Amino acid sequence: MSYAVKEIFYTLQGEGAQTGRAAVFCRFAGCNLWSGHEADRATAVCRFCDTDFADTNGQGGGRFAGAEELAEAIEEKWEVRALPPIPRRATDGWGALIAEATANPSTAPSARSAAGSAQDDNVETGDGERARRFVVCTGGEPLLQLDTPLIGALHGRGFEIAVETNGTMAAPEGLDWICVSPKAGAELKQRTGDELKLVYPQAGAEPERFTGLRFRHFFLQPMDGPRREENTRLSVEYCLAHPKWRVSLQTHKFLGIP
Ligand code: SF4
Repeated sequence: MSYAVKEIFYTLQGEGAQTGRAAVFCRFAGCNLWSGHEADRATAVCRFCDTDFADTNGQGGGRFAGAEELAEAIEEKWEVRALPPIPRRATDGWGALIAEATANPSTAPSARSAAGSAQDDNVETGDGERARRFVVCTGGEPLLQLDTPLIGALHGRGFEIAVETNGTMAAPEGLDWICVSPKAGAELKQRTGDELKLVYPQAGAEPERFTGLRFRHFFLQPMDGPRREENTRLSVEYCLAHPKWRVSLQTHKFLGIP
């Protein structure tokens, strides 16, 4: 199968339980709840979208002939990431570890064997979770395209795979992190996962509708736009009254990163 991708870029995850974690974002083109064209917004099921997912013309985007081709493009973004400068005086503790890793590319994550990367990270840094290769498949609606061959190709390159979905389709087996963001007016089919991230408020998608589902984390994320301040206040008030829920902020927006 071929894949239509809007953009691929390296950044920090800005939202939810993985906030602050380095990741390659693979934004698939297309969504089943809106065409992505302004002319259709008023009649779309999902009308508050602030993401450009139409077409394949973004940074690193394009049409990829198969799973290996797309996985390779994702891996490339992880490998060309910028490393911070190493202070010359760093000769002990963490500084020494970082200096050693960057001076010897054979120990850097990008050059490790894919199959052994997670375990190697644990041995070398004691911080395997943060050091693992991480890809966030988003969109648009990524589950329109993300399939078993692509999951296999990314795992084969040592990636931990997260998906951000509107939950209208069942997720394939093998994903490492499932984030579902339900939308009012759209039937929720993916009813389990790691985090449920609800853009708030949405008439017809009140948090009470989802509280009983099987997720590890429940987040309210204030809806952006002209009413963002009020929506943030409402989210805070709801979480104070319902401690099962936590507020998720779009930190990438105030960090000024993609
Ligand atoms: S479901 Fe997500 S990607 Fe699709 S239109 Fe809504 S916010 Fe945008």
